[in-house]
Amino acid sequence: MHVLVNALLILACHPQVAVPVDSEPTPEADTDTDTDTDADTDADAEPPALTLRTDFDSGSLGPWSIRGDTVTASLNTVTMANTGDVYAYWMFFELGGALGREVAVELRGVDGNPFFGEHPEENQVVYSCDGSTWERVTDHSTSPLAGGTHRFSHSYPCDRPRIATFFPFPYEQLDSWTRTTGKNPLASLRILGQSAQGRDIHELTITNSDVPDGGKRTVFILGRQHAGETAGSYELTGLVDFLLSGQPEAQPLLDDLIWRVVPMLNPDGAALGHSRATSLLRDPNADWANDSSVEVNIVRAHLEALALEPGLDMVLDWHNQVNDERWYDYVYSPSGNTFFPVLSGWTSFDEQLASGPSSCTASDCSFRGWAMTHVLDDPMFVLEPSPHQVHWTIASLQEQGRLTAQAIGGWFQR
Ligand SMILES: [Zn+2]
Repeated sequence: MHVLVNALLILACHPQVAVPVDSEPTPEADTDTDTDTDADTDADAEPPALTLRTDFDSGSLGPWSIRGDTVTASLNTVTMANTGDVYAYWMFFELGGALGREVAVELRGVDGNPFFGEHPEENQVVYSCDGSTWERVTDHSTSPLAGGTHRFSHSYPCDRPRIATFFPFPYEQLDSWTRTTGKNPLASLRILGQSAQGRDIHELTITNSDVPDGGKRTVFILGRQHAGETAGSYELTGLVDFLLSGQPEAQPLLDDLIWRVVPMLNPDGAALGHSRATSLLRDPNADWANDSSVEVNIVRAHLEALALEPGLDMVLDWHNQVNDERWYDYVYSPSGNTFFPVLSGWTSFDEQLASGPSSCTASDCSFRGWAMTHVLDDPMFVLEPSPHQVHWTIASLQEQGRLTAQAIGGWFQR
Protein backbone atom coordinates (compact mmCIF):
# COMPACT_ATOMS: atom_id res chain seq x y z
CA MET A 1 0.00 0.00 0.00
CA HIS A 2 2.99 2.25 0.12
CA VAL A 3 4.00 3.66 -3.16
CA LEU A 4 4.53 7.16 -1.91
CA VAL A 5 8.17 7.44 -2.84
CA ASN A 6 7.56 6.28 -6.35
CA ALA A 7 4.54 8.46 -6.72
CA LEU A 8 6.46 11.49 -5.60
CA LEU A 9 9.16 10.67 -8.08
CA ILE A 10 6.56 10.65 -10.80
CA LEU A 11 5.33 14.02 -9.66
CA ALA A 12 8.76 15.51 -9.22
CA CYS A 13 10.31 14.25 -12.40
CA HIS A 14 7.43 14.24 -14.79
CA PRO A 15 4.92 16.93 -14.04
CA GLN A 16 4.08 16.96 -17.72
CA VAL A 17 2.36 13.60 -17.41
CA ALA A 18 -0.13 14.89 -14.87
CA VAL A 19 -3.67 14.88 -16.21
CA PRO A 20 -6.89 16.30 -14.82
CA VAL A 21 -7.86 14.13 -11.91
CA ASP A 22 -10.04 11.26 -13.02
CA SER A 23 -10.86 12.98 -16.24
CA GLU A 24 -12.39 10.84 -18.88
CA PRO A 25 -9.70 9.51 -21.15
CA THR A 26 -9.38 11.58 -24.26
CA PRO A 27 -8.93 9.38 -27.30
CA GLU A 28 -6.86 11.08 -29.88
CA ALA A 29 -7.05 8.35 -32.45
CA ASP A 30 -7.66 9.10 -36.05
CA THR A 31 -11.38 8.71 -36.33
CA ASP A 32 -11.87 9.11 -40.06
CA THR A 33 -12.20 5.42 -40.70
CA ASP A 34 -15.37 5.63 -42.78
CA THR A 35 -14.17 7.83 -45.58
CA ASP A 36 -13.29 5.05 -47.97
CA THR A 37 -16.38 5.10 -50.17
CA ASP A 38 -15.15 2.45 -52.57
CA ALA A 39 -14.19 -0.10 -49.93
CA ASP A 40 -16.26 -2.77 -51.62
CA THR A 41 -14.06 -2.71 -54.64
CA ASP A 42 -10.78 -2.14 -52.89
CA ALA A 43 -9.12 -5.47 -52.21
CA ASP A 44 -6.38 -3.71 -50.23
CA ALA A 45 -8.73 -1.82 -47.89
CA GLU A 46 -7.30 -1.03 -44.50
CA PRO A 47 -8.78 -3.12 -41.66
CA PRO A 48 -11.00 -1.24 -39.22
CA ALA A 49 -9.07 1.06 -36.95
CA LEU A 50 -7.94 -0.26 -33.59
CA THR A 51 -10.10 1.11 -30.77
CA LEU A 52 -9.78 1.37 -27.00
CA ARG A 53 -12.26 1.88 -24.17
CA THR A 54 -12.23 2.06 -20.38
CA ASP A 55 -15.91 2.84 -19.70
CA PHE A 56 -16.59 -0.29 -17.69
CA ASP A 57 -16.33 -1.42 -14.07
CA SER A 58 -12.79 -0.73 -12.80
CA GLY A 59 -11.64 0.50 -16.22
CA SER A 60 -8.74 2.95 -16.08
CA LEU A 61 -6.16 4.54 -18.34
CA GLY A 62 -4.77 8.02 -18.79
CA PRO A 63 -4.88 9.91 -22.09
CA TRP A 64 -4.12 7.73 -25.09
CA SER A 65 -3.67 7.92 -28.81
CA ILE A 66 -3.66 5.24 -31.50
CA ARG A 67 -1.54 5.16 -34.64
CA GLY A 68 -1.95 2.04 -36.70
CA ASP A 69 -1.30 -0.95 -34.42
CA THR A 70 0.35 1.07 -31.65
CA VAL A 71 -1.35 2.56 -28.58
CA THR A 72 0.50 5.33 -26.79
CA ALA A 73 -0.84 6.10 -23.32
CA SER A 74 -0.08 7.24 -19.81
CA LEU A 75 -1.49 5.93 -16.56
CA ASN A 76 -4.48 7.55 -14.90
CA THR A 77 -2.94 9.82 -12.28
CA VAL A 78 -4.76 10.92 -9.13
CA THR A 79 -3.63 13.41 -6.52
CA MET A 80 -5.02 12.56 -3.09
CA ALA A 81 -7.22 15.27 -1.61
CA ASN A 82 -6.15 14.48 1.94
CA THR A 83 -2.47 13.63 1.63
CA GLY A 84 -1.44 15.38 -1.59
CA ASP A 85 0.26 12.19 -2.70
CA VAL A 86 0.08 11.14 -6.33
CA TYR A 87 -0.70 7.60 -7.39
CA ALA A 88 -0.75 5.95 -10.78
CA TYR A 89 -0.42 2.22 -11.15
CA TRP A 90 -3.82 0.71 -11.93
CA MET A 91 -4.54 0.20 -15.65
CA PHE A 92 -7.46 -1.72 -17.17
CA PHE A 93 -8.72 -1.22 -20.71
CA GLU A 94 -10.28 -3.04 -23.63
CA LEU A 95 -9.04 -3.06 -27.19
CA GLY A 96 -11.32 -3.38 -30.19
CA GLY A 97 -10.27 -4.77 -33.53
CA ALA A 98 -7.23 -6.50 -32.07
CA LEU A 99 -7.64 -9.90 -33.71
CA GLY A 100 -5.02 -10.59 -36.32
CA ARG A 101 -2.79 -7.71 -35.27
CA GLU A 102 0.40 -7.46 -33.30
CA VAL A 103 -0.67 -4.65 -30.99
CA ALA A 104 1.97 -2.62 -29.18
CA VAL A 105 1.17 -0.49 -26.13
CA GLU A 106 3.62 2.16 -25.04
CA LEU A 107 3.07 3.53 -21.54
CA ARG A 108 4.83 6.87 -21.14
CA GLY A 109 6.09 8.55 -17.99
CA VAL A 110 6.53 5.42 -15.90
CA ASP A 111 9.92 6.26 -14.37
CA GLY A 112 9.65 5.57 -10.67
CA ASN A 113 6.46 3.61 -11.12
CA PRO A 114 6.72 0.31 -9.28
CA PHE A 115 4.91 -1.73 -11.87
CA PHE A 116 6.37 -0.44 -15.07
CA GLY A 117 9.51 1.51 -14.28
CA GLU A 118 11.45 -1.17 -12.45
CA HIS A 119 12.02 -4.89 -12.81
CA PRO A 120 9.96 -5.29 -15.97
CA GLU A 121 10.84 -8.98 -16.04
CA GLU A 122 8.51 -9.44 -13.06
CA ASN A 123 5.86 -6.91 -13.98
CA GLN A 124 4.05 -8.64 -16.77
CA VAL A 125 0.64 -7.20 -17.48
CA VAL A 126 -2.27 -9.58 -17.92
CA TYR A 127 -4.95 -9.94 -20.56
CA SER A 128 -8.20 -11.84 -20.93
CA CYS A 129 -10.47 -12.70 -23.80
CA ASP A 130 -13.38 -13.84 -21.61
CA GLY A 131 -13.06 -11.62 -18.52
CA SER A 132 -12.22 -14.48 -16.18
CA THR A 133 -9.23 -16.37 -17.57
CA TRP A 134 -6.08 -14.27 -17.56
CA GLU A 135 -2.76 -14.70 -19.34
CA ARG A 136 0.50 -12.83 -19.13
CA VAL A 137 1.87 -10.59 -21.85
CA THR A 138 5.47 -11.72 -21.92
CA ASP A 139 6.88 -9.51 -24.67
CA HIS A 140 7.78 -6.25 -22.98
CA SER A 141 10.61 -3.80 -22.50
CA THR A 142 11.41 -0.47 -20.95
CA SER A 143 13.34 2.49 -22.25
CA PRO A 144 14.24 5.88 -20.77
CA LEU A 145 12.37 7.71 -23.51
CA ALA A 146 9.46 10.03 -22.63
CA GLY A 147 10.08 9.86 -18.91
CA GLY A 148 10.30 6.12 -18.99
CA THR A 149 8.38 4.08 -21.52
CA HIS A 150 7.13 0.59 -20.82
CA ARG A 151 6.27 -1.17 -24.06
CA PHE A 152 4.43 -4.44 -24.40
CA SER A 153 3.37 -6.18 -27.54
CA HIS A 154 1.12 -9.13 -28.19
CA SER A 155 -0.92 -10.82 -30.90
CA TYR A 156 -4.21 -11.39 -29.11
CA PRO A 157 -6.34 -14.44 -29.96
CA CYS A 158 -9.55 -12.41 -29.80
CA ASP A 159 -10.89 -9.14 -31.13
CA ARG A 160 -11.64 -7.43 -27.80
CA PRO A 161 -9.05 -8.41 -25.19
CA ARG A 162 -9.05 -6.69 -21.81
CA ILE A 163 -5.65 -5.72 -20.51
CA ALA A 164 -4.72 -4.83 -16.92
CA THR A 165 -1.80 -4.13 -14.61
CA PHE A 166 -2.65 -7.23 -12.59
CA PHE A 167 -5.57 -9.64 -12.26
CA PRO A 168 -8.60 -7.36 -11.93
CA PHE A 169 -11.17 -7.87 -9.22
CA PRO A 170 -13.79 -5.29 -10.25
CA TYR A 171 -16.40 -3.85 -7.93
CA GLU A 172 -19.31 -5.84 -9.34
CA GLN A 173 -17.39 -9.09 -9.17
CA LEU A 174 -16.46 -8.60 -5.51
CA ASP A 175 -19.92 -7.29 -4.60
CA SER A 176 -21.51 -10.30 -6.29
CA TRP A 177 -19.13 -12.69 -4.54
CA THR A 178 -20.03 -11.09 -1.20
CA ARG A 179 -23.79 -11.34 -1.75
CA THR A 180 -23.52 -14.95 -2.92
CA THR A 181 -21.29 -15.86 0.01
CA GLY A 182 -23.80 -14.29 2.39
CA LYS A 183 -26.39 -16.87 1.34
CA ASN A 184 -24.25 -19.74 2.62
CA PRO A 185 -25.86 -21.37 5.70
CA LEU A 186 -22.66 -20.76 7.64
CA ALA A 187 -22.64 -17.06 6.78
CA SER A 188 -24.76 -14.00 7.30
CA LEU A 189 -24.60 -10.72 5.43
CA ARG A 190 -25.12 -7.26 6.84
CA ILE A 191 -25.00 -3.84 5.20
CA LEU A 192 -22.97 -1.52 7.40
CA GLY A 193 -23.73 1.58 5.32
CA GLN A 194 -23.21 3.19 1.95
CA SER A 195 -20.20 4.73 0.28
CA ALA A 196 -20.17 8.35 -0.87
CA GLN A 197 -21.68 7.25 -4.18
CA GLY A 198 -24.24 5.00 -2.52
CA ARG A 199 -22.69 1.57 -2.91
CA ASP A 200 -23.24 -0.89 -0.07
CA ILE A 201 -20.41 -1.66 2.34
CA HIS A 202 -20.99 -5.21 3.51
CA GLU A 203 -19.92 -7.35 6.39
CA LEU A 204 -19.97 -11.13 6.29
CA THR A 205 -20.14 -13.03 9.57
CA ILE A 206 -19.05 -16.64 9.33
CA THR A 207 -19.15 -19.24 12.08
CA ASN A 208 -20.76 -22.53 13.06
CA SER A 209 -23.95 -21.31 14.68
CA ASP A 210 -24.55 -24.74 16.20
CA VAL A 211 -21.70 -23.98 18.57
CA PRO A 212 -22.50 -21.29 21.16
CA ASP A 213 -20.69 -18.03 20.52
CA GLY A 214 -19.53 -17.76 24.12
CA GLY A 215 -15.89 -18.73 24.21
CA LYS A 216 -15.32 -18.20 20.51
CA ARG A 217 -12.60 -15.80 19.43
CA THR A 218 -13.48 -13.03 16.97
CA VAL A 219 -11.31 -12.23 13.95
CA PHE A 220 -12.07 -9.09 11.96
CA ILE A 221 -10.80 -8.80 8.38
CA LEU A 222 -10.90 -5.62 6.31
CA GLY A 223 -10.30 -5.58 2.57
CA ARG A 224 -9.87 -3.25 -0.34
CA GLN A 225 -9.30 0.09 1.33
CA HIS A 226 -7.18 0.76 -1.73
CA ALA A 227 -9.08 0.38 -4.95
CA GLY A 228 -6.46 -1.21 -7.17
CA GLU A 229 -4.97 -3.65 -4.64
CA THR A 230 -6.65 -6.69 -6.09
CA ALA A 231 -4.10 -9.29 -4.94
CA GLY A 232 -5.41 -8.69 -1.42
CA SER A 233 -8.96 -9.36 -2.59
CA TYR A 234 -8.01 -12.69 -4.14
CA GLU A 235 -6.32 -13.75 -0.90
CA LEU A 236 -9.19 -12.52 1.27
CA THR A 237 -11.81 -14.31 -0.81
CA GLY A 238 -9.62 -17.40 -0.89
CA LEU A 239 -9.66 -17.43 2.92
CA VAL A 240 -13.45 -17.13 3.10
CA ASP A 241 -14.04 -19.67 0.33
CA PHE A 242 -11.90 -22.15 2.27
CA LEU A 243 -13.89 -21.59 5.47
CA LEU A 244 -17.06 -22.46 3.55
CA SER A 245 -15.54 -25.24 1.47
CA GLY A 246 -16.68 -28.14 3.63
CA GLN A 247 -13.11 -29.35 3.97
CA PRO A 248 -12.47 -31.02 7.34
CA GLU A 249 -9.60 -28.64 8.06
CA ALA A 250 -12.05 -25.75 8.02
CA GLN A 251 -14.38 -27.19 10.66
CA PRO A 252 -12.42 -26.17 13.78
CA LEU A 253 -12.06 -22.68 12.30
CA LEU A 254 -15.86 -22.45 12.21
CA ASP A 255 -16.39 -24.08 15.61
CA ASP A 256 -13.88 -21.97 17.51
CA LEU A 257 -13.89 -18.63 15.72
CA ILE A 258 -16.26 -15.93 14.53
CA TRP A 259 -15.02 -14.37 11.30
CA ARG A 260 -16.25 -10.87 10.55
CA VAL A 261 -15.19 -9.79 7.08
CA VAL A 262 -15.66 -6.45 5.32
CA PRO A 263 -14.44 -7.38 1.83
CA MET A 264 -14.56 -3.90 0.27
CA LEU A 265 -14.30 -0.67 2.24
CA ASN A 266 -13.83 1.40 -0.93
CA PRO A 267 -16.36 0.17 -3.52
CA ASP A 268 -16.48 3.53 -5.32
CA GLY A 269 -12.77 3.59 -5.96
CA ALA A 270 -12.88 0.02 -7.22
CA ALA A 271 -15.75 0.79 -9.61
CA LEU A 272 -14.06 3.96 -10.85
CA GLY A 273 -10.80 2.20 -11.62
CA HIS A 274 -8.72 4.19 -9.15
CA SER A 275 -5.31 3.05 -8.01
CA ARG A 276 -6.13 3.83 -4.43
CA ALA A 277 -8.57 6.69 -3.84
CA THR A 278 -12.23 6.92 -2.93
CA SER A 279 -14.67 8.74 -5.21
CA LEU A 280 -13.76 11.94 -3.35
CA LEU A 281 -10.10 11.28 -4.09
CA ARG A 282 -9.22 10.58 -0.49
CA ASP A 283 -6.84 7.91 0.67
CA PRO A 284 -9.07 6.07 3.13
CA ASN A 285 -6.10 4.61 4.92
CA ALA A 286 -5.10 8.14 5.94
CA ASP A 287 -8.52 9.02 7.33
CA TRP A 288 -8.73 6.74 10.36
CA ALA A 289 -7.81 9.59 12.67
CA ASN A 290 -10.43 11.99 11.28
CA ASP A 291 -14.04 11.90 10.10
CA SER A 292 -13.52 12.87 6.46
CA SER A 293 -14.19 9.57 4.66
CA VAL A 294 -17.73 8.28 5.02
CA GLU A 295 -16.53 4.77 4.23
CA VAL A 296 -13.97 4.83 7.04
CA ASN A 297 -16.48 6.41 9.43
CA ILE A 298 -18.87 3.52 8.86
CA VAL A 299 -16.29 0.81 9.41
CA ARG A 300 -14.58 2.58 12.31
CA ALA A 301 -17.86 2.97 14.22
CA HIS A 302 -18.58 -0.71 13.63
CA LEU A 303 -15.11 -1.73 14.76
CA GLU A 304 -15.36 0.35 17.90
CA ALA A 305 -18.65 -1.31 18.75
CA LEU A 306 -17.20 -4.77 18.13
CA ALA A 307 -14.18 -3.94 20.26
CA LEU A 308 -16.55 -3.33 23.17
CA GLU A 309 -18.85 -6.29 22.50
CA PRO A 310 -17.95 -9.09 21.96
CA GLY A 311 -14.34 -7.85 21.75
CA LEU A 312 -11.86 -8.47 18.97
CA ASP A 313 -9.06 -11.00 19.20
CA MET A 314 -7.35 -10.23 15.90
CA VAL A 315 -7.67 -7.64 13.13
CA LEU A 316 -6.34 -8.12 9.61
CA ASP A 317 -6.18 -5.24 7.12
CA TRP A 318 -5.64 -6.84 3.71
CA HIS A 319 -3.81 -4.72 1.13
CA ASN A 320 -1.22 -5.52 -1.45
CA GLN A 321 2.03 -3.67 -1.71
CA VAL A 322 3.20 -1.93 -4.83
CA ASN A 323 6.55 -0.70 -3.61
CA ASP A 324 9.35 -1.57 -5.99
CA GLU A 325 11.81 -1.85 -3.14
CA ARG A 326 9.97 -4.77 -1.58
CA TRP A 327 9.89 -7.81 -3.77
CA TYR A 328 8.42 -10.10 -1.21
CA ASP A 329 5.26 -10.62 0.83
CA TYR A 330 5.37 -8.83 4.12
CA VAL A 331 3.26 -7.94 7.12
CA TYR A 332 3.13 -4.87 9.30
CA SER A 333 2.68 -6.25 12.76
CA PRO A 334 3.54 -5.35 16.34
CA SER A 335 7.10 -6.08 17.36
CA GLY A 336 7.40 -9.27 19.34
CA ASN A 337 4.01 -10.65 18.37
CA THR A 338 3.73 -14.42 18.29
CA PHE A 339 1.40 -14.68 15.29
CA PHE A 340 3.79 -13.61 12.56
CA PRO A 341 6.11 -16.62 12.97
CA VAL A 342 3.09 -18.91 12.68
CA LEU A 343 1.80 -17.07 9.63
CA SER A 344 5.23 -17.15 8.04
CA GLY A 345 5.38 -20.90 8.57
CA TRP A 346 2.15 -21.42 6.68
CA THR A 347 2.28 -18.80 3.96
CA SER A 348 4.56 -16.79 1.68
CA PHE A 349 4.51 -13.84 4.11
CA ASP A 350 8.17 -13.95 4.98
CA GLU A 351 9.03 -10.48 6.19
CA GLN A 352 7.76 -8.52 9.15
CA LEU A 353 7.89 -4.76 9.37
CA ALA A 354 7.18 -3.10 12.67
CA SER A 355 3.85 -1.40 13.21
CA GLY A 356 1.82 0.07 15.98
CA PRO A 357 2.08 3.08 18.22
CA SER A 358 5.61 2.33 19.34
CA SER A 359 6.97 2.44 15.79
CA CYS A 360 5.36 5.54 14.38
CA THR A 361 4.52 9.11 15.12
CA ALA A 362 0.89 10.12 15.29
CA SER A 363 0.90 11.33 11.69
CA ASP A 364 2.68 8.21 10.46
CA CYS A 365 0.20 6.03 12.26
CA SER A 366 -2.67 7.89 10.70
CA PHE A 367 -1.18 7.65 7.24
CA ARG A 368 -0.70 3.92 7.51
CA GLY A 369 -4.07 3.14 8.94
CA TRP A 370 -2.46 2.27 12.21
CA ALA A 371 -4.80 4.67 13.94
CA MET A 372 -6.94 1.57 14.12
CA THR A 373 -4.53 0.17 16.64
CA HIS A 374 -5.09 3.20 18.85
CA VAL A 375 -8.82 2.71 19.01
CA LEU A 376 -8.73 -1.08 19.11
CA ASP A 377 -5.81 -1.96 21.33
CA ASP A 378 -5.84 -5.41 19.75
CA PRO A 379 -3.34 -7.33 17.67
CA MET A 380 -3.53 -5.90 14.17
CA PHE A 381 -1.76 -7.14 11.08
CA VAL A 382 -1.52 -5.38 7.73
CA LEU A 383 -1.00 -7.99 5.02
CA GLU A 384 0.99 -6.91 1.98
CA PRO A 385 1.39 -9.60 -0.65
CA SER A 386 3.46 -8.50 -3.61
CA PRO A 387 1.59 -8.49 -6.92
CA HIS A 388 4.89 -7.92 -8.69
CA GLN A 389 5.84 -11.56 -8.83
CA VAL A 390 5.12 -13.07 -12.18
CA HIS A 391 4.57 -16.55 -10.75
CA TRP A 392 1.26 -15.51 -9.18
CA THR A 393 -1.92 -16.96 -10.54
CA ILE A 394 -5.41 -16.27 -9.24
CA ALA A 395 -5.44 -19.81 -7.83
CA SER A 396 -2.14 -19.36 -6.00
CA LEU A 397 -3.33 -16.10 -4.46
CA GLN A 398 -6.51 -17.82 -3.26
CA GLU A 399 -4.34 -20.60 -1.85
CA GLN A 400 -2.47 -18.04 0.25
CA GLY A 401 -5.83 -17.05 1.71
CA ARG A 402 -6.55 -20.64 2.69
CA LEU A 403 -3.14 -20.96 4.30
CA THR A 404 -3.67 -17.71 6.19
CA ALA A 405 -6.91 -19.10 7.63
CA GLN A 406 -5.08 -22.20 8.81
CA ALA A 407 -2.30 -20.11 10.33
CA ILE A 408 -4.87 -18.10 12.28
CA GLY A 409 -6.56 -21.28 13.46
CA GLY A 410 -3.24 -22.77 14.44
CA TRP A 411 -2.24 -19.68 16.39
CA PHE A 412 -5.46 -19.57 18.41
CA GLN A 413 -5.12 -23.28 19.19
CA ARG A 414 -1.59 -22.88 20.49
ZN1 LIG B 1 -2.94 -0.50 0.43
